[in-house]
Amino acid sequence: MRQSKLFTKTRKEAPKDEVSKSAQLLIKAGYIKKEMAGVYTMLPLGLRTLQKIQEIVRKNMNKIGGVEMNLTALQDPNLWEKTGRWDDKVLDVWFKTKLKNDTEVGLATTHEEPLTNLMKDHISSYNDLPVYPYQFQTKFRNELRAKSGIMRGREFLMKDLYSFSESKEQHDEFYEKIKKAYFDIYEECGIGDKTFLTFSSGGSFSKYSHEFQTETDAGEDIIYYSPSKKIAVNDEVYNDEVLKELGLEKSELVEKKTAETGNIFTLGERFSEPLELIFDTKEGERKPVFMGSYGIGIGRLMGVVAEILSDDKGLAWPESISPFDVHLVNVSGDNEDSVKLSDEIYEHLTQNGIDVLYDDRKKGVGEKLGDADLIGISKRIVIGVKGIESGEFDLYNRLNDKTEKVSESQIMNLEFIKKNGNN
Ligand code: ATP
Ligand code: MG
Repeated sequence: MRQSKLFTKTRKEAPKDEVSKSAQLLIKAGYIKKEMAGVYTMLPLGLRTLQKIQEIVRKNMNKIGGVEMNLTALQDPNLWEKTGRWDDKVLDVWFKTKLKNDTEVGLATTHEEPLTNLMKDHISSYNDLPVYPYQFQTKFRNELRAKSGIMRGREFLMKDLYSFSESKEQHDEFYEKIKKAYFDIYEECGIGDKTFLTFSSGGSFSKYSHEFQTETDAGEDIIYYSPSKKIAVNDEVYNDEVLKELGLEKSELVEKKTAETGNIFTLGERFSEPLELIFDTKEGERKPVFMGSYGIGIGRLMGVVAEILSDDKGLAWPESISPFDVHLVNVSGDNEDSVKLSDEIYEHLTQNGIDVLYDDRKKGVGEKLGDADLIGISKRIVIGVKGIESGEFDLYNRLNDKTEKVSESQIMNLEFIKKNGNN
């Protein structure tokens, strides 16, 4: 894409009421627009990164047997009354609205109820189990505070997968698989080393659930982490009995400020029983399906990466989720040779399947490089008169802040893709 055609502009200042660092950077760089507190539009750059994260999550969910679908946002109160969750005192984040005939509908905060109900059409025997439907869907939550940018939206994209199993044993097997898949996702998004498996309270069907907590000052949670065991507990379950049970030494635990980037939950029969999702077992009994739910906030994940992988100058994406593969910056816009060479490189790389943002704008060097730092595309190639004279061009890696020199032929042979580290 030619940057002259990218309609978004960078800006010097974020809105005054935007306190979150990641949101400030994302707004200044033109990734998102704040519509109101907790509500953000995804601009072209933001959508690209969001979709790359989504693709990583999708790949890892498909790998463990996930089957993608899409449920509706509008929700029927009758269904939620059966599980007791239509009540605002039980689920305090509902957005509700009225139809023309005065009956109510809700905007989905989560999807256990409709999916459990839907699966009644498809699960009748143990032969139909296990199954793992999932979706990427916009959730609506009337969050009390929304000061963390896209890390806590009132409208946000979530990946939610639900497991339907014939037994606790079958469930547990999948539970371990998805734990690993989650870590692969955080790793690929560049925050694997800062994300910790955290024990949290589990509800009625298992003693614990698990959160994936990522260390960042912008987080709203506190965890207690054991460096030797590589697990943590959150403040809900931080007590002597739990520590003993998990074999954790209080003296060894490190307190960390974190953001919950995902969580996984054993639901058991919490929903299948009231909604009557019943199946025939091998032994010919009738039993409620054993369920689990598994969420990842896609926008929150993007916000957390932006918090962690950024510096004074701007964002610094890992290659895996950078909105473009390469930022091609022509710093000598008024020089014919430089324009010609930049155009050639742009055409050539694009034809070879590389996603290039080409800064072809009529602007000064300082502004162009400043914008490039702010936008934070993982690799940058700088073309200009100086480079043409010396035959060497700057190849800059935004994440590790290192510059190498590459020749025109190295660029044209796509050798630079291998060079400059894999961050
Ligand atoms: P939190 O304690 O942060 O409110 P939660 O326990 O309500 O999270 P879940 O309902 O389990 O979260 O949702 C699954 C995932 O969705 C969370 O792990 C988080 O990554 C993401 N998420 C939850 N609420 C929001 C929000 N308001 N904005 C963006 N992402 C969110
Ligand atoms: Mg919540």
